[in-house]
Amino acid sequence: EEGTEAPAEPRPAAGTPPPEVQQEEEDEDEDFQFLRCEGCGQDSAQPRLLSCLHTLCPGCLSDTKQCPLCQAAAGAPAMDNLLFSNLRSRLQVWRQIRSSGGPGCSRCKGEAALVWCSDCEEFFCAKCFEEHQWWHKKKAHRIRKVEELRAGSARQFLEDTKTSCSLFCSSESHPEESRVCSIYCPRCERALCCPCALLDTGHSPFRDLRAESRRRQDELRSLRRDLRRLHGAFEAALARLRSEAARREEQRERLRECVRTSAERLEQLVRREAEELRALLEARPERDRSALTEELRGAEGALLRLEAAERLVERLGRYGGEQELMDMQPFV
Ligand SMILES: [Zn+2]
Ligand SMILES: [Zn+2]
Ligand SMILES: [Zn+2]
Ligand SMILES: [Zn+2]
Ligand SMILES: [Zn+2]
Ligand SMILES: [Zn+2]
Repeated sequence: EEGTEAPAEPRPAAGTPPPEVQQEEEDEDEDFQFLRCEGCGQDSAQPRLLSCLHTLCPGCLSDTKQCPLCQAAAGAPAMDNLLFSNLRSRLQVWRQIRSSGGPGCSRCKGEAALVWCSDCEEFFCAKCFEEHQWWHKKKAHRIRKVEELRAGSARQFLEDTKTSCSLFCSSESHPEESRVCSIYCPRCERALCCPCALLDTGHSPFRDLRAESRRRQDELRSLRRDLRRLHGAFEAALARLRSEAARREEQRERLRECVRTSAERLEQLVRREAEELRALLEARPERDRSALTEELRGAEGALLRLEAAERLVERLGRYGGEQELMDMQPFV
């Protein structure tokens, strides 16, 4: 599908929009990578537009319950992304224009093309162009020289060819004749040819198709402004949410740190207490032992004193005179 001009670029990773989508519209070098499936990055002839406005190829659309990119639940059924599929085919025309050999005539297939007719959507060589002019002399087809187109940009070409397709009336009243629409019926929400609009009074009041188209363009412009504003507001809200989340995380981290330090302090306290208790426990028998020794020593002393008293009393009784008895007996 790639023309020779298309650079062999790596495909964008699934889920990430190609950077071109974020670029400003003013960018002339847009390479239309956004036409690729936003899921797998593959070129697709039938891009489908989801209700979340993501565009996916039919292969990536297997999960009909939600969008694989933004996880939005599928609302309305997906529709053909006509804009992308038409752009894609016009881009292929552009690649033919820019191809090294240049495009060939769409009619005779032999000669190199000289002009491009936007209305026929065909290339013509000089000879076939003469015939084209003879056949369509009453209708003014928009003709561009291939040489001029080649010198321009892809963007310019696509913008110039965007109005080339005329809407044809889809009414059943004239099945074999295709008539170009010029009327818009707001009630049926579709375009009609002039006779259809005039013959059926049910369509009035109708509008001019051009005016309706302009109205929709205006609506798109104001929608774009609204979206930009909304985007800004949403980004600000998201930033606030993120900083709030970061703040809470920081708070939680602080709390965790606090718990950790107090747990450590408590642990140290308990350990110290335990050591003191253990020291106390080890000190206790020592004290008991010394008390016993003291008691023992006391008892031994008492025994010695008793013996001494016995001896003294016996000797006092045996050897003591009146003088000694009178002086010492109360003391003993
Ligand atoms: Zn895909
Ligand atoms: Zn989506
Ligand atoms: Zn030809
Ligand atoms: Zn033509
Ligand atoms: Zn009609
Ligand atoms: Zn109507």
